[in-house]
Amino acid sequence: MNNLDFDPVVLTQALVRCASITPRDEGALDVVQNHLSHLGFKCTRLPFSDQNSYDVDNLFATIGSHGKHLAFAGHTDVVPPGNEDSWKYPPFSATIEGDKLYGRGSEDMKSNIACFISATHKFLSKNNTKFNGKLSFIITGDEEKLAINGTPKIMEWTKKNNIIFDQCIVGEPTSNNNIGDKIKIGRRGSVSFFLVVKGVQGHTANAHRAENAAHYLTKLLNNIISKPLDKGNNNFLPTSVQIATIDIGNPAMNVIPEIAKATVNIRFNDIHTSQSLTEWMQNHINDIFNKNNKASCTFTFDANAESFINKQGELTNLMTKSIAEVTGQNITPEFATDGGTSDARFIKDYCEVAELGIRNQTLHKVDEFVYLKDIEELHNIYFKIIENFFSKN
Ligand SMILES: [Zn+2]
Repeated sequence: MNNLDFDPVVLTQALVRCASITPRDEGALDVVQNHLSHLGFKCTRLPFSDQNSYDVDNLFATIGSHGKHLAFAGHTDVVPPGNEDSWKYPPFSATIEGDKLYGRGSEDMKSNIACFISATHKFLSKNNTKFNGKLSFIITGDEEKLAINGTPKIMEWTKKNNIIFDQCIVGEPTSNNNIGDKIKIGRRGSVSFFLVVKGVQGHTANAHRAENAAHYLTKLLNNIISKPLDKGNNNFLPTSVQIATIDIGNPAMNVIPEIAKATVNIRFNDIHTSQSLTEWMQNHINDIFNKNNKASCTFTFDANAESFINKQGELTNLMTKSIAEVTGQNITPEFATDGGTSDARFIKDYCEVAELGIRNQTLHKVDEFVYLKDIEELHNIYFKIIENFFSKN
């Protein structure tokens, strides 16, 4: 391996060329492992199985034996490209055109992993003898899908092996207009409700002998979206209640449906928990259904993430300082909690965690791309963070 292999653009291309659609790996973890082994990291593959999920391979790589411990967390899996004919270039070709590198996973989040590896390479080449601390990579092959056999199990494994982290950077694409102008210090929670209303089937001409499930469902849905749950607070946007599906599937216009179903997804701030929202949903159901014995409503739910916030502290100060030093401008990062969920939710109970990465522009879209200059900039910022982190030892 030579220096060019550690160029962040070349390394991003090598990663994008692995069509690692969850849970397939297609050599992506090998690319990470080969580079880190070359730098002297001890690499441990962590394949996990679970009755509720497909099998997933993961990687934990670490260097150093004492001192402060910095971790970088990321995922090598990507979402499917969709219709490949819609792409300007084949989604796993990692084609560079002008100032852009195209490919599925280029933004979310292979360029970020590449930048951190390449920053580590630069740091170790410069400071090898003076390096006094521990640096680790927590890399999963399953962030985009179930995330059962990924980061949560890696973190449990580190705990069992008495591996303790001081701080962890998750390389999700968080930046907005400039690299480093936005850091995520928490995330909203997510809960989905699957509602089933059961009424009494009948002829639409004999409505008095039936009980229309669709009418009850629409009333319930209307009630739950009629007023906002909260106004948000300093750290979070208002909670968002979204009706994702309404499913009646009635093929006849002259039959009153017996069953009407809906899915409601709620992205919630730290004013709520999945449990308080479950109670809120049950109360709304009770309002409509408790006096009526002809129609009923049941539901199941999937609470896949609670909201969380990491207070600004040493890690965000380190990031802020490093960003200012590299950009030479006074870019003061915004500390945000918006967007979807991320694996930071599995790390927050183990150490201070914050997310910083490339600009959030095209992830999960056709023609996902990153600007080459953004890769350079992020690589420089990560390098400065590593240097500043260990200079304090
Ligand atoms: Zn991601």
